[in-house]
Amino acid sequence: MPEIIPITVARGDGIGPEIMDATLRVLEAAKAAIVPEFIEIGESVYERGFSSGIEPDAWESIRRTGVLLKAPITTPQGGGVKSLNVTLRKTLGLFANVRPCRSYAPFVETHHPFMDLVIIRENEEDLYAGIEHRQTRQVTQCLKLITKPGCERILRYAFEYTRSRGRKKLSCMTKDNIMKLTDGMFHRIFRELSKEYPDIETEHLIIDIGMARVADAPDRFDVIVTPNLYGDILSDVAAQVSGSVGMCPSANYGITASMFEAIHGSAPDIAGQNIANPSALLLSAVKMLSYLSQSETAMLIHNAWLKTIEDGFHTIDIFSHLPNYEHQRLGTNEFADAVIERLGDEPQTLKTVRYKRTEIVTHPEIKSEEVKELVGVDVFFDWDAGTPDDLGAALQAVSDDRLSIRMVSNRGVKVWPGGIPETYCTDHWRARFKHPEKNMTVEPADVIALLQRCLDAGLDFIKTEHLYMFDGKRGYSLSQGQ
Ligand code: NAD
Repeated sequence: MPEIIPITVARGDGIGPEIMDATLRVLEAAKAAIVPEFIEIGESVYERGFSSGIEPDAWESIRRTGVLLKAPITTPQGGGVKSLNVTLRKTLGLFANVRPCRSYAPFVETHHPFMDLVIIRENEEDLYAGIEHRQTRQVTQCLKLITKPGCERILRYAFEYTRSRGRKKLSCMTKDNIMKLTDGMFHRIFRELSKEYPDIETEHLIIDIGMARVADAPDRFDVIVTPNLYGDILSDVAAQVSGSVGMCPSANYGITASMFEAIHGSAPDIAGQNIANPSALLLSAVKMLSYLSQSETAMLIHNAWLKTIEDGFHTIDIFSHLPNYEHQRLGTNEFADAVIERLGDEPQTLKTVRYKRTEIVTHPEIKSEEVKELVGVDVFFDWDAGTPDDLGAALQAVSDDRLSIRMVSNRGVKVWPGGIPETYCTDHWRARFKHPEKNMTVEPADVIALLQRCLDAGLDFIKTEHLYMFDGKRGYSLSQGQ
């Protein structure tokens, strides 16, 4: 008998309780060696005034068991609350989000019968840092943070995953033609690591064409690794073209904790009707069992599920009148019953699943020894008192022999010196100050002195970004037109 393992279970919102109950019934029938500890998270907790959507005793359970099986939750729209999904992933350090998307032709209608890909999404960084500010009356911003250890960890994980699962090709997708520093770092580290994995075919695609190709010809992909936001969107596209968002599982792995959930949301439009497809959550639970070294039970359930799909027992989202196949439309509960009845069966046409747990070890991060030098500062202003030339003149007046104005941009486009009147300008300006002589460093005190002169001149500065060189290489972008 395998050891009985406590897991934390959240039944979620919308269709969450229905698909979780169906999933737990199948797990119980398959004699999974787990003991669920239920926690309440999501809508009801937000409504009780907890803006994080989770209370301390729920954290305590998750931290104790280290494993969360989670149904989708509803995130209230608008300001005031934080997304609980993002909070869970980041607080628990779940850096790798693994989302397999495959088609089940000829039993489930799809344009892509040979699709079988895995998306590995970076799970903690990027725009999901959730650092947003309103800076002027007209302008809001969201910080996109990409870190070197974050890139190294997820990319190493993706290479190790590809190799350990016997997959052949790893595609990296970024937008580094535009975001040269952030996405550029992700791509560069991908290229560097690829040298350690000569057995894996690698490619890089710009995310826009990459995503278009996933929608059009997903069978050309094997494993895809990509930053957080692109991975979020890409996996919904891939799940949908595989047949239904209701069938794709998702596993979130960290060093000390893991979380298993469907990729879809709480589907409030079909909640409470016993029609939701529980497959994505059930297959996520299967991944959890494999992770908990209960591979036999994982295989038992997964193969029974494949047989159910093959036998034509389908929930409404995938039910269709395909010629040559007997199909029966089932509700959520009845679908779970059909899977339970087939425990011990194997599919005849679809490929039988074999699980073996493979530990993926990501190497420890190496501290960087790069030399960092301060060479200037970007000061952002809230200003609407005239033309770019007027602002340029005001900034020349606050320059000195340590920091002098070099350029002013608006929404990233250089507008001074030498701007053109066609460029639309908001009230949010970025002014770049550097030492008057090339390649000279400056001191933080020079920045403070500059800000004091701006204050004395009545210029409303709203933030600063230091300009650094790292081992002589520029650590900041140029403006469009600079
Ligand atoms: P959704 O995934 O809930 O629904 C999109 C569409 O897919 C709907 O038409 C829905 O009926 C259908 N669908 C989804 N799951 C299905 C299933 N299992 N069976 C059959 N049909 C299914 O996305 P949404 O409508 O954009 O979001 C609804 C709520 O879910 C929002 O509050 C959102 O914030 C939340 N959400 C939560 C998670 C999560 O908890 N991990 C993920 C995404 C969205």
